[in-house]
Amino acid sequence: MYQLIDTHAHLDEIEDIEQVLADAGEAGLAAVVAVGSDLESNRKVLELAARHEKFVNPALGWHPWFIKEADIEANLGFIKAYIHEAVAIGEVGLDYHKRVRAVADKELQKRVLGEILQIAKTHDKPASIHSRYAWRDAYDAVVNAGLEKAVFHWYTGTSSVLRDIIENGYYISVTPAVEYHEEHRRAVKEAPLERMLLETDCPVVYQRGTENEFTSSPADVLRSLREAAVLKGVSEEELAEITTQNAVRLFGL
Ligand SMILES: [Zn+2]
Repeated sequence: MYQLIDTHAHLDEIEDIEQVLADAGEAGLAAVVAVGSDLESNRKVLELAARHEKFVNPALGWHPWFIKEADIEANLGFIKAYIHEAVAIGEVGLDYHKRVRAVADKELQKRVLGEILQIAKTHDKPASIHSRYAWRDAYDAVVNAGLEKAVFHWYTGTSSVLRDIIENGYYISVTPAVEYHEEHRRAVKEAPLERMLLETDCPVVYQRGTENEFTSSPADVLRSLREAAVLKGVSEEELAEITTQNAVRLFGL
Protein backbone atom coordinates (compact mmCIF):
# COMPACT_ATOMS: atom_id res chain seq x y z
CA MET A 1 0.00 0.00 0.00
CA TYR A 2 1.31 3.45 -0.92
CA GLN A 3 1.34 6.52 1.29
CA LEU A 4 -0.60 9.01 -0.78
CA ILE A 5 -1.89 12.53 -0.28
CA ASP A 6 -4.93 13.91 -2.07
CA THR A 7 -3.76 17.51 -2.40
CA HIS A 8 -7.03 19.02 -3.65
CA ALA A 9 -10.40 17.72 -2.45
CA HIS A 10 -13.77 19.39 -1.90
CA LEU A 11 -14.63 17.35 1.18
CA ASP A 12 -17.33 19.84 2.16
CA GLU A 13 -19.35 18.73 -0.89
CA ILE A 14 -19.28 15.03 -0.02
CA GLU A 15 -22.20 13.30 1.65
CA ASP A 16 -21.39 10.55 4.12
CA ILE A 17 -18.00 12.14 4.62
CA GLU A 18 -17.04 10.01 7.65
CA GLN A 19 -17.37 6.80 5.63
CA VAL A 20 -15.53 8.34 2.68
CA LEU A 21 -12.63 9.38 4.90
CA ALA A 22 -12.48 5.93 6.48
CA ASP A 23 -12.32 4.40 2.99
CA ALA A 24 -9.55 6.85 2.09
CA GLY A 25 -7.53 5.74 5.09
CA GLU A 26 -8.00 2.11 4.12
CA ALA A 27 -6.88 2.88 0.57
CA GLY A 28 -3.59 4.12 1.98
CA LEU A 29 -4.06 7.85 2.06
CA ALA A 30 -1.92 9.59 4.63
CA ALA A 31 -3.59 12.97 4.35
CA VAL A 32 -6.01 15.12 2.38
CA VAL A 33 -5.82 18.84 1.64
CA ALA A 34 -9.43 20.05 1.84
CA VAL A 35 -9.91 23.21 -0.20
CA GLY A 36 -12.67 25.74 0.41
CA SER A 37 -14.79 27.48 -2.22
CA ASP A 38 -16.63 30.23 -0.37
CA LEU A 39 -17.54 31.36 3.11
CA GLU A 40 -19.84 28.46 3.98
CA SER A 41 -17.48 25.95 2.42
CA ASN A 42 -14.49 27.40 4.30
CA ARG A 43 -16.38 27.03 7.58
CA LYS A 44 -17.15 23.37 6.83
CA VAL A 45 -13.54 22.68 5.86
CA LEU A 46 -12.29 24.05 9.18
CA GLU A 47 -14.84 21.94 11.09
CA LEU A 48 -13.84 18.79 9.23
CA ALA A 49 -10.18 19.48 9.84
CA ALA A 50 -10.85 19.96 13.56
CA ARG A 51 -12.57 16.55 13.68
CA HIS A 52 -9.82 14.82 11.69
CA GLU A 53 -6.67 16.47 12.87
CA LYS A 54 -3.58 15.73 10.74
CA PHE A 55 -5.60 13.68 8.23
CA VAL A 56 -7.73 16.56 6.91
CA ASN A 57 -5.66 19.67 6.29
CA PRO A 58 -7.69 22.80 5.59
CA ALA A 59 -7.14 25.33 2.83
CA LEU A 60 -9.24 28.49 2.70
CA GLY A 61 -10.29 29.99 -0.60
CA TRP A 62 -12.84 31.61 -2.82
CA HIS A 63 -13.43 29.79 -6.08
CA PRO A 64 -13.78 32.07 -9.14
CA TRP A 65 -17.17 30.47 -9.85
CA PHE A 66 -18.58 32.06 -6.68
CA ILE A 67 -17.07 35.55 -6.73
CA LYS A 68 -19.48 38.44 -6.28
CA GLU A 69 -18.52 42.06 -5.75
CA ALA A 70 -20.91 42.36 -2.79
CA ASP A 71 -19.32 39.40 -0.99
CA ILE A 72 -15.68 40.51 -1.14
CA GLU A 73 -15.44 41.87 2.38
CA ALA A 74 -17.11 38.89 4.03
CA ASN A 75 -15.03 36.30 2.18
CA LEU A 76 -11.67 37.99 2.48
CA GLY A 77 -12.38 38.91 6.09
CA PHE A 78 -13.05 35.28 6.96
CA ILE A 79 -9.92 34.05 5.21
CA LYS A 80 -7.78 36.64 7.00
CA ALA A 81 -9.33 35.76 10.35
CA TYR A 82 -8.68 32.02 10.04
CA ILE A 83 -5.64 31.77 7.80
CA HIS A 84 -3.45 30.73 10.75
CA GLU A 85 -5.52 27.51 10.99
CA ALA A 86 -4.98 26.63 7.32
CA VAL A 87 -2.10 24.91 5.52
CA ALA A 88 -2.82 26.82 2.31
CA ILE A 89 -4.92 29.32 0.41
CA GLY A 90 -7.26 27.61 -2.06
CA GLU A 91 -9.16 27.06 -4.11
CA VAL A 92 -8.56 30.42 -5.75
CA GLY A 93 -7.80 31.51 -9.27
CA LEU A 94 -9.23 32.67 -12.55
CA ASP A 95 -11.70 31.04 -14.92
CA TYR A 96 -12.30 32.64 -18.31
CA HIS A 97 -15.08 30.32 -19.44
CA LYS A 98 -17.84 32.62 -20.69
CA ARG A 99 -20.37 31.34 -18.19
CA VAL A 100 -18.03 32.31 -15.37
CA ARG A 101 -17.16 35.70 -16.88
CA ALA A 102 -20.88 36.44 -17.18
CA VAL A 103 -21.05 36.41 -13.37
CA ALA A 104 -17.60 37.80 -12.50
CA ASP A 105 -15.68 39.51 -15.29
CA LYS A 106 -11.92 39.21 -15.76
CA GLU A 107 -11.15 42.42 -13.90
CA LEU A 108 -13.18 41.45 -10.84
CA GLN A 109 -11.67 37.96 -10.80
CA LYS A 110 -8.14 39.36 -11.07
CA ARG A 111 -8.72 41.94 -8.35
CA VAL A 112 -10.06 39.35 -5.93
CA LEU A 113 -7.28 36.88 -6.74
CA GLY A 114 -4.64 39.58 -6.24
CA GLU A 115 -6.02 40.41 -2.80
CA ILE A 116 -6.27 36.78 -1.70
CA LEU A 117 -2.76 36.00 -2.90
CA GLN A 118 -1.51 38.90 -0.78
CA ILE A 119 -2.94 37.08 2.25
CA ALA A 120 -0.99 33.98 1.20
CA LYS A 121 2.15 36.05 0.78
CA THR A 122 1.78 37.81 4.13
CA HIS A 123 1.30 34.51 5.97
CA ASP A 124 3.76 32.51 3.87
CA LYS A 125 1.13 29.98 2.71
CA PRO A 126 1.13 28.06 -0.56
CA ALA A 127 -1.80 28.59 -2.93
CA SER A 128 -3.90 26.02 -4.83
CA ILE A 129 -4.70 27.68 -8.14
CA HIS A 130 -7.58 27.17 -10.56
CA SER A 131 -6.58 28.50 -14.01
CA ARG A 132 -9.06 27.24 -16.64
CA TYR A 133 -8.67 29.20 -19.92
CA ALA A 134 -6.71 31.78 -17.90
CA TRP A 135 -3.38 30.02 -17.55
CA ARG A 136 -1.10 32.95 -18.35
CA ASP A 137 -3.03 35.48 -16.26
CA ALA A 138 -3.25 33.09 -13.31
CA TYR A 139 0.48 32.43 -13.51
CA ASP A 140 1.22 36.17 -13.72
CA ALA A 141 -0.98 36.84 -10.68
CA VAL A 142 0.98 34.30 -8.62
CA VAL A 143 4.32 35.74 -9.72
CA ASN A 144 3.18 39.34 -9.19
CA ALA A 145 2.05 38.49 -5.66
CA GLY A 146 5.59 37.33 -4.97
CA LEU A 147 4.47 33.82 -3.99
CA GLU A 148 7.16 31.20 -3.81
CA LYS A 149 4.81 28.26 -3.26
CA ALA A 150 1.89 27.40 -5.52
CA VAL A 151 0.27 24.47 -7.28
CA PHE A 152 -1.62 24.89 -10.56
CA HIS A 153 -4.18 22.24 -9.89
CA TRP A 154 -5.50 19.94 -12.69
CA TYR A 155 -3.32 21.83 -15.14
CA THR A 156 -4.52 21.66 -18.76
CA GLY A 157 -2.90 24.81 -20.14
CA THR A 158 -0.23 25.59 -22.69
CA SER A 159 3.28 24.18 -22.68
CA SER A 160 4.80 27.65 -22.51
CA VAL A 161 3.03 28.56 -19.26
CA LEU A 162 3.88 25.11 -17.95
CA ARG A 163 7.57 25.73 -18.60
CA ASP A 164 7.38 28.95 -16.59
CA ILE A 165 5.52 27.19 -13.77
CA ILE A 166 8.28 24.58 -13.59
CA GLU A 167 11.15 27.05 -13.88
CA ASN A 168 9.72 29.11 -11.05
CA GLY A 169 9.55 26.10 -8.75
CA TYR A 170 5.75 25.82 -8.71
CA TYR A 171 3.82 22.56 -9.04
CA ILE A 172 1.04 21.08 -11.10
CA SER A 173 -1.30 18.40 -9.76
CA VAL A 174 -2.67 15.32 -11.48
CA THR A 175 -6.35 14.35 -11.34
CA PRO A 176 -8.02 11.12 -12.55
CA ALA A 177 -8.68 13.00 -15.83
CA VAL A 178 -5.13 11.91 -16.67
CA GLU A 179 -6.75 8.65 -17.79
CA TYR A 180 -8.35 10.29 -20.82
CA HIS A 181 -8.05 14.07 -21.10
CA GLU A 182 -5.64 15.03 -23.88
CA GLU A 183 -4.38 18.39 -22.56
CA HIS A 184 -4.00 17.11 -19.04
CA ARG A 185 -2.06 14.05 -20.25
CA ARG A 186 0.30 16.29 -22.22
CA ALA A 187 0.98 18.48 -19.18
CA VAL A 188 1.68 15.42 -17.04
CA LYS A 189 4.07 14.09 -19.67
CA GLU A 190 5.91 17.41 -19.82
CA ALA A 191 6.20 18.12 -16.09
CA PRO A 192 9.12 16.66 -14.12
CA LEU A 193 8.38 14.36 -11.17
CA GLU A 194 9.87 16.89 -8.75
CA ARG A 195 7.12 19.38 -9.65
CA MET A 196 4.16 17.00 -9.51
CA LEU A 197 1.41 16.34 -6.96
CA LEU A 198 -1.58 13.99 -6.98
CA GLU A 199 -5.18 14.95 -6.28
CA THR A 200 -8.79 14.08 -7.09
CA ASP A 201 -10.73 17.39 -7.06
CA CYS A 202 -13.47 15.16 -5.61
CA PRO A 203 -16.40 14.88 -5.82
CA VAL A 204 -15.90 15.77 -9.50
CA VAL A 205 -17.60 13.32 -11.88
CA TYR A 206 -15.03 11.94 -14.34
CA GLN A 207 -15.58 10.26 -17.70
CA ARG A 208 -18.95 12.01 -17.75
CA GLY A 209 -21.41 10.56 -20.24
CA THR A 210 -19.43 7.36 -20.79
CA GLU A 211 -19.92 3.88 -19.36
CA ASN A 212 -16.85 4.55 -17.17
CA GLU A 213 -18.41 7.57 -15.47
CA PHE A 214 -17.68 7.79 -11.75
CA THR A 215 -18.08 10.26 -8.90
CA SER A 216 -14.67 10.70 -7.31
CA SER A 217 -13.60 10.50 -3.68
CA PRO A 218 -10.12 10.85 -2.11
CA ALA A 219 -9.37 7.13 -2.59
CA ASP A 220 -9.40 7.77 -6.35
CA VAL A 221 -6.05 9.48 -5.98
CA LEU A 222 -4.84 5.93 -6.76
CA ARG A 223 -6.21 6.38 -10.28
CA SER A 224 -4.19 9.57 -10.69
CA LEU A 225 -1.13 7.70 -9.45
CA ARG A 226 -1.56 4.67 -11.71
CA GLU A 227 -2.00 6.53 -14.98
CA ALA A 228 0.62 9.19 -14.23
CA ALA A 229 3.13 6.40 -13.47
CA VAL A 230 2.41 4.87 -16.88
CA LEU A 231 2.83 8.23 -18.64
CA LYS A 232 6.06 9.01 -16.79
CA GLY A 233 7.46 5.51 -17.24
CA VAL A 234 8.18 5.03 -13.54
CA SER A 235 6.88 2.57 -10.98
CA GLU A 236 3.79 3.47 -8.98
CA GLU A 237 5.90 3.07 -5.86
CA GLU A 238 8.47 5.63 -6.98
CA LEU A 239 5.84 8.12 -8.11
CA ALA A 240 3.90 7.69 -4.85
CA GLU A 241 7.00 8.40 -2.82
CA ILE A 242 8.10 11.44 -4.81
CA THR A 243 4.66 13.08 -5.05
CA THR A 244 3.96 12.50 -1.36
CA GLN A 245 7.29 14.09 -0.45
CA ASN A 246 6.46 17.00 -2.74
CA ALA A 247 3.10 17.49 -1.00
CA VAL A 248 4.64 17.26 2.47
CA ARG A 249 7.19 19.89 1.51
CA LEU A 250 4.76 22.27 -0.24
CA PHE A 251 2.04 22.21 2.41
CA GLY A 252 4.28 21.71 5.43
CA LEU A 253 2.37 18.57 6.48
ZN1 LIG B 1 -11.31 22.15 -7.12
